[in-house]
Amino acid sequence: MAPPIRLYNTLGRSKQEFKPLQPGQVSIYTCGPTVYRYAHVGNLRTYLFADLLVRTLDYNGYQVRQVKNITDVGHLTDDTFDRGEDKMLVSARLEKKSPAEIAAHYTHAFLDDEARLGIRRADAFPRATEYVPRMVELVALLLEKGHAYESGGNVYYDISSFPDYGRLSRNTTAKLLAGTKGEPDHRKRSPLDFSLWKRGDKRLQVWDSPWGPGFPGWHIECSAMSMALLGERFDIHTGGADNVFPHHEAEIAQSEGVTGHRVVNHWVHGQLLFLSGTRMAKSAGNFFRITELEEQGHDPLAFRYLALQAKYRAPLNFSPDGLAGAGRALVQLRERVADWRSGPEGPTGDFGDRFLAAINDDLDLPAAMALVSELVRSDRAPGSKAALLLDWDRVLGLDLARGGPEPGELPIGADNLLTQRQKARAAKDYATADRLRAELASLGVQVTDTSEGQTWRTAPRG
Ligand code: AMP
Ligand code: ZN
Repeated sequence: MAPPIRLYNTLGRSKQEFKPLQPGQVSIYTCGPTVYRYAHVGNLRTYLFADLLVRTLDYNGYQVRQVKNITDVGHLTDDTFDRGEDKMLVSARLEKKSPAEIAAHYTHAFLDDEARLGIRRADAFPRATEYVPRMVELVALLLEKGHAYESGGNVYYDISSFPDYGRLSRNTTAKLLAGTKGEPDHRKRSPLDFSLWKRGDKRLQVWDSPWGPGFPGWHIECSAMSMALLGERFDIHTGGADNVFPHHEAEIAQSEGVTGHRVVNHWVHGQLLFLSGTRMAKSAGNFFRITELEEQGHDPLAFRYLALQAKYRAPLNFSPDGLAGAGRALVQLRERVADWRSGPEGPTGDFGDRFLAAINDDLDLPAAMALVSELVRSDRAPGSKAALLLDWDRVLGLDLARGGPEPGELPIGADNLLTQRQKARAAKDYATADRLRAELASLGVQVTDTSEGQTWRTAPRG
């Protein structure tokens, strides 16, 4: 019996047993990127954690459906209090391209970056611009149900109509009010009310609505896309820690305001990536792209290896040295797997169970990686060690098979010679074994004898 999957739920702040709504199936919504600039490895850490969640569920035999939105309507620099400029439009102005061209360019780059990190493709990538009619519908419903009000072409969510507002982020209205700064916005009943629809007719991206031309607020995008694709109840919603407030707090108020019931069961948030102690951020300019790191000679999966060393709920500090160390460890691990793959097999004891227990305990990848080291150092049969590591790689995603050729890549006839040699050694016929070793070497196959049996590799590696 596999141990149950336990996940920390931001709503309630505790580890809870994961129970899917439908037996054997899991629906996940992952807050995706705003495609007005390249993603940095901080953003990618958040998608990596969602990927580890998807892979863990898949490893446990669940059929997973993951939806990851593409925000191609720029949300405001400071969406909390509706100030600032639309990022998408700033990029359009600076790059002299249409918002659609910008979005297409950065969406491609994002998908490439994800692939570099071994992040599995989500099942759907809804684009916000395609769901505007659905957003308008939701805003109209919120007005009808008394959760929203119109004011001069803008529509605001009335947070006083939703007593649970603040439950996810554990913010109280008093605390939030104390944090408001600057001139009050007279169009709003409370400074904490957030925009559902924003008036605007002199913009590049404008849609018609019952309240006049304008564009949707950022939060309503995710309510619309998640419920359109996963239904009014789904299992898991992921995002970065900075999405808890205001984005997800607002999403709950909207989705539950419309449906009248709980929509998301588990809210799971990944902690942020830091660079020299400061949060990695596009706006602050302190960031690395994964392609930049690759150009510097790093394997992108070294970043994945690095991220696996920390719990997803712990902040992680990024450093080029740390990345280089992770890269070396990864190469070594792949070489071990390549060396051991063709070796003899034997029992592996409770390693398999312990791995599953680690990942099912709120994705404890650091514990799983400690187990990798323990297995590598153990005296288990090499063939079985390699097989187990390759099986675990379904979750780790480190491309551990890359270190050596596939079994089918052995030169013709080498397989047969290896079998003959194994038999010769077993019969203590060392003269024949040596002759066969020389013959294999002439085919480019190097054979090494270990205490557990013979292993081989096809080309010398540095
Ligand atoms: P954005 O494209 O700015 O909307 O961000 C996309 C995702 O990246 C969001 O889910 C954020 O929570 C996440 N994110 C932003 N900065 C960081 C960071 N430094 N570390 C980890 N995740 C981040
Ligand atoms: Zn979102």
